[in-house]
Amino acid sequence: MRSVIIVGAGIVGLSTAWFLQERGVEVRVVDRGEVGLGASWGNAGWIAPALTLPLPEPAIFRYGVRAVVDPRSPVYVPLAADPKLLRFLTDFAWHSTPPKWRRNMKTFAEINRWSLDSFDRLADGGVADRTITAEPFLTAFTSERDRDVLRHEFAEIEKRGGEVDFRLISGDEVRAIEPAVSGLVTHGIRVSGQRYINPPLFVRALAEAVEARGGTILTHTTVADVADLGSGVTVTVARPATEGALPEAEELAADAVVLATGTWLGGLARRFGVKTLVQAGRGYSFSVRPEVVPEHPIYFAAQRVACTPLGDRLRVGGMMEFRAADAPPDPRRITTLVEAARPLFTGVDWDAREDEWVGSRPCTPDGLPLVGVTRSPRVHVAGGHGMWGVTLGPLTGRVLADAMTGRPRHPLLDAFDPLR
Ligand SMILES: Cc1cc2nc3c(=O)[nH]c(=O)nc-3n(C[C@H](O)[C@H](O)[C@H](O)COP(=O)(O)OP(=O)(O)OC[C@H]3O[C@@H](n4cnc5c(N)ncnc54)[C@H](O)[C@@H]3O)c2cc1C
Repeated sequence: MRSVIIVGAGIVGLSTAWFLQERGVEVRVVDRGEVGLGASWGNAGWIAPALTLPLPEPAIFRYGVRAVVDPRSPVYVPLAADPKLLRFLTDFAWHSTPPKWRRNMKTFAEINRWSLDSFDRLADGGVADRTITAEPFLTAFTSERDRDVLRHEFAEIEKRGGEVDFRLISGDEVRAIEPAVSGLVTHGIRVSGQRYINPPLFVRALAEAVEARGGTILTHTTVADVADLGSGVTVTVARPATEGALPEAEELAADAVVLATGTWLGGLARRFGVKTLVQAGRGYSFSVRPEVVPEHPIYFAAQRVACTPLGDRLRVGGMMEFRAADAPPDPRRITTLVEAARPLFTGVDWDAREDEWVGSRPCTPDGLPLVGVTRSPRVHVAGGHGMWGVTLGPLTGRVLADAMTGRPRHPLLDAFDPLR
């Protein structure tokens, strides 16, 4: 295989382009917007094996039907759900039983064995922005009961062959590490061996690395169609209209194509046999500048609030809103996030928020990504990474590039089979 077009310039598409280049393939990446402005922009940037767990989990039902239709809930489903969303939620519930979750945990333990190493390959290969070691990664709680929920998950990871290096600490010990955390926090866990990135900087550096090795990135170019010609593929792209002219349509040709369009995967992949629904699980984030800016990521698991230091600001993110990816942002979600985070910190001006953002986690009903070859041997997909596309992006690129270039097939690709 000499040439591949990758549709989607998020962390998954760019990682795939980079690893294909490692294997000597010429790549073109096409995105309908700018590089990395999809879900890969405003996320928490954690590469945290201890927390990389399947999303469909028995605990999700703790919220109950009343809670998920309440706009103030961290998990939100609009009352006027459409049939596609109802189908997704039914499948999702079916995968949230304890036995299915335990089976997925095994796959995630395997994923976690490979994810950090895939980031190291990018660094060794010259990607300028690096992962940051979170020593420690903090999780903080307002009761021992809440802490026990995460402790139980760590115990499950260990039972399924994973490892978590953690120590229980008091609220005061949390504050000794991060003075901005308020007195409401009474319990904590310090976790070692986790990392994080500054998502916009990292994805930009990855794109620069792809270009520096001779790859092309076409932005503001929408892929409208993909055709398998038997000997290669054509990808029909449309560029925005210039003044007084119609949008330009053009066909690009290559030996193969990878669809890495995140939450929009279904549109192009369905006709190649990918039937699994990819549903937007929308999350929100913003940044603030606390008087003492935390130096470590902090996860308030019970409140589902994720905080990441990005330079001189703290990014605060959360929410899971099952809604159309392209619907306008709902300001009530930001208010909910602010009200959840406010009591957990001191010294923050919550009105001085910047970078308010909504983005779509590409969620699959079984919580596993869709990575691999479709019904066409020339059309591949890399999407549906849900809550963990940052952690899984480089690993995805690596295993997919290997499979596409005739190297030994990674066993994880069985679990990721896009035709399942
Ligand atoms: C609040 C929040 C916090 C998160 N925190 C974390 C975290 O800490 N760690 C973690 O691992 N993950 C996290 N995630 C999940 C992670 O952000 C996503 O899983 C990941 O970014 C998905 O990457 P992607 O490349 O598949 O998709 P995207 O980044 O969305 O990229 C897809 C690209 O495809 C393009 N595209 C779509 N259709 C077309 C078309 N027809 N033609 C051309 N281009 C097209 C889009 O423009 C877009 O740029 C978080 C998500 C949210 C919302």
